[in-house]
Amino acid sequence: MKNRFDAVIVGAGSAGASAAIWLATAGWSVALIEKQVFPRRKVCGECVAASNFPLLEALGIGPEFLAQAGPELSQTAVMRGARSVVADLPSAPEAQHPWGRALAREVLDTLLLERARAVGVTVLQPWAVQKINGLAGSHQCTVRDTVSEKLIVLHAQMVILAHGSWEPLPADRAVQRLARSGSDLLAFKANFRGASLRAGLLPVLMFPGGYGGMVLGDHGLFTVACCIRADRLEALRRAAPGKPAGEVVQDMLVRECKGVCDALQEAVREGAWMASGPIAPGVRLRSDEVVFRIGNAAGEVHPIIGEGISMALQSAWLLCSRLAQARPSNPVPDAAAWQSEARSSYAAEWRRQFLPRMRLAATFAHLAMRPGTSAALLALLERWPSLLTRGATWAGKVNYATEIETTLWRKSYDNHRPYPCHAGEGFQTGPQPAHPGRPA
Ligand SMILES: Cc1cc2nc3c(=O)[nH]c(=O)nc-3n(C[C@H](O)[C@H](O)[C@H](O)COP(=O)(O)OP(=O)(O)OC[C@H]3O[C@@H](n4cnc5c(N)ncnc54)[C@H](O)[C@@H]3O)c2cc1C
Repeated sequence: MKNRFDAVIVGAGSAGASAAIWLATAGWSVALIEKQVFPRRKVCGECVAASNFPLLEALGIGPEFLAQAGPELSQTAVMRGARSVVADLPSAPEAQHPWGRALAREVLDTLLLERARAVGVTVLQPWAVQKINGLAGSHQCTVRDTVSEKLIVLHAQMVILAHGSWEPLPADRAVQRLARSGSDLLAFKANFRGASLRAGLLPVLMFPGGYGGMVLGDHGLFTVACCIRADRLEALRRAAPGKPAGEVVQDMLVRECKGVCDALQEAVREGAWMASGPIAPGVRLRSDEVVFRIGNAAGEVHPIIGEGISMALQSAWLLCSRLAQARPSNPVPDAAAWQSEARSSYAAEWRRQFLPRMRLAATFAHLAMRPGTSAALLALLERWPSLLTRGATWAGKVNYATEIETTLWRKSYDNHRPYPCHAGEGFQTGPQPAHPGRPA
């Protein structure tokens, strides 16, 4: 079994799988470790901003994404109680597909993973990374087959953490925050059939102690996702003893948000409510590390602006474009030096790209969750709905990667192919989907 790689990537969400595709396409040998079996559902609003389409195209899943995703999201609404404000969403300039669309994560992440496999990535799934030792240039990753419990050690020049935010590596668990607070935000999501929402509308929900969103996605599937403070949830659960948390959240949304009540009138829920969290918005990039971080493992944005998938895809691209440029064409003894240079350049660009939208999202989230400030915000938006359009632009909905940038990126890879391409060796022991898509 092959156990030496140029890069080991932990986690095959949108960030990890896309980084694996970029690096494998550039000729690196890559192992992608994912502990869950795909397709897997995920707590997420599942909206993918138009700014990502050039990246999806360059990653090789553009046509599949467009063929499967829900309707173009050309308008947004902010809904609070019985009131709502509707505004246009900005359209990506000169783009063939100017608006974002929703696609279930079990479909999107499976498309990316299958693509990674097709370009030669070695996928270990369902395997979990247990421990990472060593330094830049000579890492040892202990990985565990979650079915047989077998342990193996992989050696890699570089490790990229893309394990999301709620699932710390076992080695980090000791420092996990154990004390929970009432202000912790717990995340929920459910899918429905037969919901009625105007196609193309992407509403944001504001309610006391939380915020959320709903959208019509692929194949008529309707998604409701939200975050709610732990103390608000506890109070709701005390008032409905014995009821599952997700159902309590659904009752509250229907009762307190007219938009949800209208949308779900004829709807039938598909599957159970999913829950996760608490979410931990903030920056996780650190300058003293010997590994790289992308996606939520690098930093998490309040999901009220639906930009987490963008940050996952875009941070993977930011990092990999730097790695392709920084890595010397022959192995050199001082791997730490060039990796450190790439890490600093990546961190600087990451902050430039993502900090403004993280701050905007945090402000919006805090205003939305408090009754007084959300009332004032709604009044402001009723007066100037165009602020919503402008806010969506500031949030990065349309202005990231362009065709030109991804073309340059491809050229840069062609010029920096460091090693011959290694064929991937599949280690997957769990069930494999016949083709990317929803489980039957
Ligand atoms: C309520 C809610 C709504 C949201 N709505 C939207 C939205 O509409 N649009 C949007 O763009 N974003 C949205 N987001 C944010 C988005 O879901 C995340 O930002 C995104 O999933 C991050 O992608 P990732 O690849 O970094 O991590 P993840 O998607 O979390 O992937 C991490 C992967 O790593 C694997 N993993 C973890 N630990 C290990 C290990 N030790 N070994 C091996 N594998 C491991 C996990 O199994 C997982 O598959 C929402 C989030 C929430 C909470």
